[in-house]
Amino acid sequence: MVLKTLPFTKEKISEIIAQYPTPFHLYDEKGIRENARRLKEAFGILEGFQEFFAVKALPNPYIMKILKEEGFGADCSSLPELLLAEKTGIIGELIMFSSNDTPAEEFRKAKELGAIINLDDISHIKFLEDEAGLPELLCCRYNPGPLKEGNAIIGKPEDAKYGFTREQLFEGYKYMRDKGVKRFGLHTMVASNELNPNYFIETARILFELIVEISRELGIRFEFVNLGGGIGIPYRPEQEPVPYNVIARGVREEYAKIIEANDLAPLKIYLECGRVITGPYGYLITKVRHIKHIYKDYVGTDACMANLMRPGMYGAYHHITVLGKEKEQPAFKYDVTGSLCENNDKFAVDRMLPEVKRGDILVIHDTGAHGHAMGFNYNGKLRSAEILLRPDGSFVQIRRAETVDDYFATLDLDNLASFS
Ligand SMILES: *Cc1c(COP(=O)(O)O)cnc(C)c1O
Repeated sequence: MVLKTLPFTKEKISEIIAQYPTPFHLYDEKGIRENARRLKEAFGILEGFQEFFAVKALPNPYIMKILKEEGFGADCSSLPELLLAEKTGIIGELIMFSSNDTPAEEFRKAKELGAIINLDDISHIKFLEDEAGLPELLCCRYNPGPLKEGNAIIGKPEDAKYGFTREQLFEGYKYMRDKGVKRFGLHTMVASNELNPNYFIETARILFELIVEISRELGIRFEFVNLGGGIGIPYRPEQEPVPYNVIARGVREEYAKIIEANDLAPLKIYLECGRVITGPYGYLITKVRHIKHIYKDYVGTDACMANLMRPGMYGAYHHITVLGKEKEQPAFKYDVTGSLCENNDKFAVDRMLPEVKRGDILVIHDTGAHGHAMGFNYNGKLRSAEILLRPDGSFVQIRRAETVDDYFATLDLDNLASFS
């Protein structure tokens, strides 16, 4: 059982709120750095290990810079994400460009940055060749289809839109080889928020075996394998974190049995995790605006789905602490809601909490990945600020909250008066 403790005091939060009103996401830099070091140490037993942080999980350049300092690259999937990496100083082969349904200009930008381009479909080889020219290094994304069981968030691989089939991989690498591509990688991403370490070891085994077959048949040599992201985090108090060293050791064993035994070493091992890197180190801080008693009891907060979609979208569990009431009995049952005109705008349903009062501060846990990033402006809701808690206890705003002016920024109202 993991205790859902907090890396800050109520006094610290009051101090931050005095400067930056709620709601906001607060990120714990110390937690992020320590976790990055744990991951690197565990996976360091693998040949040429490199993590590319999945930028979509927390697309903030300050966070990316921290992770760059810890030795991580960036996994990007759009032009703005490539630009974020570039502005953070992450360029060249420290960028993995894993996109799908990709426009030509994004391939061109990725190539210009010297990024590793990870192709999602066999037709993209020719598309890339025509639009930007084939680079010396290319990677393909494999969709194992019914060979691999899926999981709840990402679904079954055979229903997923991503990647090449097995047969297409042979055809694709052959085409690239004949067109002069010299360096090759293989990628897959078949899980999301997966807590079972064996899942990743099995994925590695499937990819290693495939590399043996493709290398033999085509006479090409693979430089790396990218096992994707998808390592889960313990959102619920009764769940345990995924032990990195169990995955790393399991992958190391498969590597010896398959890659080394077939004389295909060295093969570098890459990951492109997002959630497990920053997820547990983010907190949505929100104030209770109203308490409502009808057929059920509701705690209405000043945050909403625009700040955190996961509960409304997937029914995902996010732990909630009523700040300063950690020792009180959770004897009251509430739905914790936002202010959207959408009934699934709830952070929790039938959640047992201590008695909540207007003005209480709620801490919604594990919002450091796929939290702020998924925000939107539906119903005229504005996205919140992001604040970084530094290791020395100081804090800095790393993204301001949106204002009504931001909401109107894309509208040209000058012609409205004369428009009819
Ligand atoms: C979303 C995504 C990731 C990161 O997934 P996490 O579950 O956050 O680790 C990595 N690679 C690709 C291609 C993705 O789409």
